[in-house]
Amino acid sequence: MVKATTVLCSRYHRSGYKYDLLLIPSSLHRTMPEKRQRKYPTKICPTCTKPFAKQGKYCCRACGNSRVFTPTYKAKVSNALKQKIIDDPEYKQAQIAKILPDIPIPPQIESPMGLDQFIADGDLWTEV
Ligand SMILES: [Zn+2]
Repeated sequence: MVKATTVLCSRYHRSGYKYDLLLIPSSLHRTMPEKRQRKYPTKICPTCTKPFAKQGKYCCRACGNSRVFTPTYKAKVSNALKQKIIDDPEYKQAQIAKILPDIPIPPQIESPMGLDQFIADGDLWTEV
């Protein structure tokens, strides 16, 4: 009897029949090729200027997500927001409401407990 490796395949065939179990003999299983590794040409990351051999334009997620805001761009956004506030006073109020919520945080009241006092067994004690 041939020793077999059972491979469960959950895919459906085009015909509509589900693949049940694929019985692969152990000898054949050993000779099965490894997953093909794709070789990418070495490129230079435009953000960090380091060479890398991966898929895509950037070497890593951090480099792909990083953005440099130029002073020109900052000025453009700033002027646009200033103009929006001038044009729409409600927008200004909405922005203020985001920063200042309706319920103000009460100022911290000084503890009534003195320096020579302490709490023990649920009572306030004064050191003599
Ligand atoms: Zn990079």
